[in-house]
Amino acid sequence: MNIYEELTKEMKELEEQGLLVNIRTLESAQGAWLNMNGKKVLNMCSNNYLGFANDERLKKASIKAIEEWGVGPGAVRSIAGTLTIHNTLESELAKFKHVEDTLVVQSGFNANQAIIPAIMRSEDAILSDELNHASIIDGVRLTKSKKYVWKHKDVKSLEEALKKADSENAKRKLIITDGVFSMDGDVAPLPEICDVAEKYNALVMVDDAHGEGVLGSNGRGIVDHFGLHGRVDIEVGTLSKAFGVVGGFVAGKKELIKYLKQKARPFLFSSSLSPAESGAALEAIKILTENDIEVKKLWDNGKYFQEKMREMGFDTGETVTPITPVMLYEAKTAKKFSSRLYEEGIFASAIGFPTVPKGKARIRVMISAAHSREDLDFALEKFKLIGKELEII
Ligand SMILES: *Cc1c(COP(=O)(O)O)cnc(C)c1O
Repeated sequence: MNIYEELTKEMKELEEQGLLVNIRTLESAQGAWLNMNGKKVLNMCSNNYLGFANDERLKKASIKAIEEWGVGPGAVRSIAGTLTIHNTLESELAKFKHVEDTLVVQSGFNANQAIIPAIMRSEDAILSDELNHASIIDGVRLTKSKKYVWKHKDVKSLEEALKKADSENAKRKLIITDGVFSMDGDVAPLPEICDVAEKYNALVMVDDAHGEGVLGSNGRGIVDHFGLHGRVDIEVGTLSKAFGVVGGFVAGKKELIKYLKQKARPFLFSSSLSPAESGAALEAIKILTENDIEVKKLWDNGKYFQEKMREMGFDTGETVTPITPVMLYEAKTAKKFSSRLYEEGIFASAIGFPTVPKGKARIRVMISAAHSREDLDFALEKFKLIGKELEII
């Protein structure tokens, strides 16, 4: 067999196991409603929490930035690709998040590749929640540090790992956790993590991709939500979810950000955001600084939808955020439910193994401030219909 035959064979096997990713194409811009396959469907799949991805104010700011700064940065940030608009974005983001400084890179994924390998050496220890995001896992893989994986959200298990790292003479110890875990909508016990970190003199890093623009006052994130300013050393965030644009960042102390500008490889070796993206992200920060209309609407929508779903008898799992898992347990049931929803005009994806553990299949409903009450009522009616049909409720 040549390589192409091998790849085709492997994908056939994935297909037989129901693990092949089906890549759908949106035939209209992000929003509450989408065109897909020539059909209009209610969008309950995207991370466009605040509806900013197609917001007129962000679009205008983006066009204005193109007119002033052009379309591309022309070089990596460290050679000739740092424009004033990049510096403004970093300082405005720092002000918004109440941190000393930020470093913006191409994506949230790259933000983890920027920070973790830059500061972690072979004599150090990384302590990672077992359900951390793939971009954290890959960032950790780029280091020679010792790895200690602790049980999901289990601070006792974390403390055991810290003890072990100490007994193995770790120098720097870095605890890493997602802020909001996107498959269940649950939140890291960050205050308790900070307590145990202080006891063992470890650093705390949180990747708040699903919390930026969602948790905390005006969407300032999980650190603000728990009032932990000054106790969390490193925040990683994304501009690609609630902020509606694309990009990622690291937020923390001045010395750290200065150091990253010398050492972070995605910053040094890959061109950064375009002016269009930077301008739109700046507008999102401006909107969020001035008001929390969209953040409030997102939470109101989440609360309304989840309450009605529970009243009907659905199991919405462990969520404490607008992310709504509808637990169906059997992968086959989840798939069937999702395809019936699509027939009824709702785009909500089934999620099964290996993204979530076996026997924990679900429909994951992503609530957005872009949804109207009528949209949510439409969805609730269809969930009821199909829930009865498949004898879930
Ligand atoms: C989505 C996500 C990322 C990646 O963010 P992008 O900006 O899309 O690259 C990183 N970390 C976590 C925890 C995420 O949920």
